[in-house]
Amino acid sequence: MKVFKFGGASVNSVERVQNLVDILQNYNGEKLLIVVSAMGKTTNALEKVVNAFYESKNAEALELFATIKRQHLNTAKYLLVTHFLSCENQLRDFFTEAEWLLHDKPVKDYDYYYDQLVCTGELFSTCIVSHFLNEKGISNKWIDVRDVFRTDDDFRDADIDWEITTANVRDNINPLFAENNIVLTQGFIGATDENESTTLGREGSDFSAAVFANLLDAESLTIWKDVESVMNADPKQFSDAIPIPVLNFNEVIEMAYYGAQIIHPKTIKPLQNKNIPLFVKSFIDPNLAGTIIHNKVVHQLPPIIVLKENQVMLQMSSRDFSFIGEHYIGRLYQLFESLHLKPNLTQNGAISFLCVFDDRTEKLEKLALDASAFLDVQVMRNLSLLTIRHFHKEIFEKLTIDKKILLRQQTQTTIQVLMQ
Ligand code: ASP
Ligand code: MG
Repeated sequence: MKVFKFGGASVNSVERVQNLVDILQNYNGEKLLIVVSAMGKTTNALEKVVNAFYESKNAEALELFATIKRQHLNTAKYLLVTHFLSCENQLRDFFTEAEWLLHDKPVKDYDYYYDQLVCTGELFSTCIVSHFLNEKGISNKWIDVRDVFRTDDDFRDADIDWEITTANVRDNINPLFAENNIVLTQGFIGATDENESTTLGREGSDFSAAVFANLLDAESLTIWKDVESVMNADPKQFSDAIPIPVLNFNEVIEMAYYGAQIIHPKTIKPLQNKNIPLFVKSFIDPNLAGTIIHNKVVHQLPPIIVLKENQVMLQMSSRDFSFIGEHYIGRLYQLFESLHLKPNLTQNGAISFLCVFDDRTEKLEKLALDASAFLDVQVMRNLSLLTIRHFHKEIFEKLTIDKKILLRQQTQTTIQVLMQ
């Protein structure tokens, strides 16, 4: 059994959905569990619906939702002939449920409504893709993953209840493979024990696919992307980025930690724990080798570069020349936690503490204000944080030339500099 994950970009047009048939034909007869994301930018569009609804602009919310509906119905109409009516019926059930909510007044938390509405993106896309594949002879069983992934009610950042989810996969998903080669379902969403929809955090479908791979003891997980493989840098920032054919989980978790946007960081643990290899492959050219990520040692990696722009440095200094010790640091970290802020870099000095964050202006203003109750705070914006793993002198010099370096940290494998 293999698990496949197709992200939003792989189903963002009629042609892309048709392309799935070509890919899946290469796996004829194999057992596959397939996780599909919402189409293209649907999740972002649904977030706008939630915002309008939560500001009690019901008409606007319904109008925005109508656009999303129309797009999906059009896509279905384009793709489907014999299976259109059945697909349309299923879609209309989802539409009605959402619209019913959109006529209400918001009385609960924002995050609750977010999950009830945003989860529909994956339901729409999987409904269309499943019908289309069936019509094209790639027979598959559509599953509502909310009947499988049990979560807590921490809306927008729900955690999986492993015990119940494990039992659900064992009792309700495994047996399906006796009669079906392909089971197709959603990523990113789940449900509470009261049948409220939940989401697992943006870009969470990779994680869902990894959970399925873990619980099904899959032989591998393949994430189909619009890049040829994992690269040593973001090709949008570095035109000379090169593909990396083999990586291990350690390296990937480190890369994700430093901000490389390759794979959702939560994806690694369920795979690593069961020694399940992860393939990153191109849905545009499936013949390319892509990247394999596994548990084995990998020698000779190229320098891996992560450049984060829009960084903000806060410099906090004691007022009376007292040391910045555990007492101050403890208080600061409590503030970080309460504001859900994660520093990308910190440095401790005798009477000052430096910390670097992504520019989340509102939260940082709150942090600066709260910290200024006990420390002097200075803020510097518009900085870039460069991280190079497996660095050498030439690459470091090349990437920092003409830059003013404000802060530098280095271990044997990794160098980080904050630059102006
Ligand atoms: N559709 C969700 C998002 O865009 C989940 C995912 O695609 O991973 O964040
Ligand atoms: Mg996505």
